[in-house]
Amino acid sequence: MIGFYGEKNMKSRAEVAKKDTWNLEPLYINVDAWKKDFTELSLLAEKDWQEIATLKKEFTPDVAYIKRLIEAHFAISRKIDKLFTYVRLWLDQDITNTEAKNAYMLALAVAQGYQEAVSWIEPKILATSESFLKKCLDSDLLKEYRVFIHRLIDQKAYVLSEESEKLMSYASRLDRAPNEAFKALNNADLVFGSVEDSEGKKHPLTHGLYQVYMKSFDRTLRENTYRTLHNTFRGFENTIGELLSGELQTHLFQKKARSYPSCLEASLIGNQIPKSVYMNLLSTVEKNTSALHAYTSLRKEALDLDELHYWDMGVPLIQDVEWKFTFEEACEIVIASVAPLGKEYQEILRKGLLEDRWVDVYENKGKRSGAYSGGSYDSMPYILLNFHGTLQDLMTLSHEAGHSMHTYLSNKNQKWHEARYPIFLAEIASTVHEQLTDDYLLQITEDVDKRLYLLQSQIDGIRNTFFRQTLFATFEYKIHELVEEEEALTPLVLKTLYGELNQKYYGPSLIIDEELKSEYLRIPHFYYNFYVYQYATGIATAIFCAKKLHQGDKEAYLQLLKSGASDYPMALLKRAGIDLESTAIIENCIETFSELVKKFEKELSKIRTSR
Ligand SMILES: [Zn+2]
Repeated sequence: MIGFYGEKNMKSRAEVAKKDTWNLEPLYINVDAWKKDFTELSLLAEKDWQEIATLKKEFTPDVAYIKRLIEAHFAISRKIDKLFTYVRLWLDQDITNTEAKNAYMLALAVAQGYQEAVSWIEPKILATSESFLKKCLDSDLLKEYRVFIHRLIDQKAYVLSEESEKLMSYASRLDRAPNEAFKALNNADLVFGSVEDSEGKKHPLTHGLYQVYMKSFDRTLRENTYRTLHNTFRGFENTIGELLSGELQTHLFQKKARSYPSCLEASLIGNQIPKSVYMNLLSTVEKNTSALHAYTSLRKEALDLDELHYWDMGVPLIQDVEWKFTFEEACEIVIASVAPLGKEYQEILRKGLLEDRWVDVYENKGKRSGAYSGGSYDSMPYILLNFHGTLQDLMTLSHEAGHSMHTYLSNKNQKWHEARYPIFLAEIASTVHEQLTDDYLLQITEDVDKRLYLLQSQIDGIRNTFFRQTLFATFEYKIHELVEEEEALTPLVLKTLYGELNQKYYGPSLIIDEELKSEYLRIPHFYYNFYVYQYATGIATAIFCAKKLHQGDKEAYLQLLKSGASDYPMALLKRAGIDLESTAIIENCIETFSELVKKFEKELSKIRTSR
């Protein structure tokens, strides 16, 4: 199973070799330097952020004034960003470190205080006339802030009177209730007890262990796990159904109050994503579910089962392979695999990973679990890992390094306020890295078991990130449609819809059990307001980009990474030759999936006949 290192053997933070830690010194040379900055900002906070307070009193719809306001606001935001980044990283090294914890809480209070102090800025600008906003947009003085102003103008069409906006802000405090209640139920109140394996041995069941057991080769354990977890949720299907309805009612409220064309469009307008991007994803996948059907039936055959149930969808089709990498080996593989991005790109990455110490590599006592890429405009693009040397860890390094290179190139080429790329683009660079690393490993690996292992991880990646998320996005779309038509979302309506979608996606080889029909009850993403489709468009775009890179076409892609948030995401993508309004990108992803499944099937039959 997964290599848990015993607490006993784990190093304390102080014992970790410097070379294995990230280098925070370029951010702040030491804690005293951070304290100096913190004190300065705290003093400013005490004076109501001085310049901001003065500007508030002097508000005038005047282009030069708006420039002063934006610049003062951005300058402080940038400082707070730097201050906060340092303590977050410092705390993540060891979350039991009370000095870091205290510093974190202090920085958080400063950041939150500032947010409140500037909450008037956008509404105040939005309350000016449309002609004034247009004047700002056309003014040379504000040229640098064109995107910022454009976004305000986009919102302007949906802004209400001052009185109504006040009411809306009160109402917004209620919006979080359904999601918060679901989180409390899901993370705290629900307990799943224990489940038995095929030998009658009991195992505790939690969310984390659910993922582990679903990959177990013990089918009884998988079935018991799947049924127990979902039946626990089914015991609350009326309550959770109401929470989900409540969440959708908050979306409907926004739609009606601000006169958006639909709930979906209300969520897309901020980033100017056309509705067709969403609908195109749904319809193209729906037309091509046969690709996923082929995989479902391959699973049934490979596992030699009379009946395939959902608890058979996660188990590996081949036994675990022993495949380990040192951190240095993993870095060399990732660097070699991104060769299609060019020598310069590879050199930046090499320096970051192996010389400048972007990465905090190993686990230590109290270190935050998981992995991420993070930092600020004024720091290196740091990477937190808990590296144990598995293939999974290698892929995680590749993924996070993709984020970090995107951040690096964006920060190098854009000003602070246009460097932070939006969520819609965020997973592209990381997934391109994964694709390139997968392709590279397949190219250099001859061992059949390892090849199968790699192919399976690629197939499951697309199944989970593309197909499953599109299924979710379709469900989300349909339940919003029902709510907009004032239909009641009863448990029967919800599970019928969810069951039908699963049958359509996975095809006739999969038995649709009652538990699967009720899976929607446990998905936190249904409270995120049309969020998940971005996982699917992200991976489809990344697969398309990786293909282009292999064809030697790298300039447009690099330009995309360098352009940060200097325009709306669709415009940036179009400049890189990516048009998500056409079906090509989505179709390419489905074709890639089909090819991988065929390759897997072929290699699998080769070893079956030879053994
Ligand atoms: Zn990511």
